[in-house]
Amino acid sequence: MPHDHDHPHSVLPPEPALRIKALETILTQKGLIDPAALDEIIDTYQNRIGPQNGAKVVAKMWVDADFRADMLNDPMPRLREMGLYGRQGEHMVIVENTSEVHNVVVCTLCSCYPWPLLGLPPGWYKSDAYRARVVREPRAVLAEFGLSLAEDQKLRVWDSTAEIRYLVAPERPKGSENMSEDELIALVTRDSMIGTAILPEVSA
Ligand code: FE
Repeated sequence: MPHDHDHPHSVLPPEPALRIKALETILTQKGLIDPAALDEIIDTYQNRIGPQNGAKVVAKMWVDADFRADMLNDPMPRLREMGLYGRQGEHMVIVENTSEVHNVVVCTLCSCYPWPLLGLPPGWYKSDAYRARVVREPRAVLAEFGLSLAEDQKLRVWDSTAEIRYLVAPERPKGSENMSEDELIALVTRDSMIGTAILPEVSA
């Protein structure tokens, strides 16, 4: 059956990116937003923040027991001190992986994510499939990421909200015992801080 394209919805571009661009154009024309300010925000979270901030936190937790205790208790004072504070990261909770428990983070409602620590979320994090399935069948989803958990390892799924954002502190890899804090920072991956990956053993 031929589809009638002579009605208003057909003027919307089909792809989300194009729709966003169209929205941005309208809001700019109405003087409601400043595109330079928008570009600045995107550049900040995409290029200047990114997962290296989270990696700094994780590596410091590995080498500094007091810092680790503070981060697991209430990370906000220390994060503010470190300047790792800002929009979409006002109330962070850090959950630590151990040999007994693995943690993974999702936002089932939309795409809440700790921007000041991880930058902008990857596309799959925002996908309907990840958001729905990681709650229902987390082990199967993690297996698709190449991560097979031991059967006796507990799995906790944390659902982010507008109020609370979670960061996973992955286990320090075997073989990294003699590495400096800077070397450790370089080991920590984005996905290990979402919980869809673990860090591989470091070979000498
Ligand atoms: Fe969300």
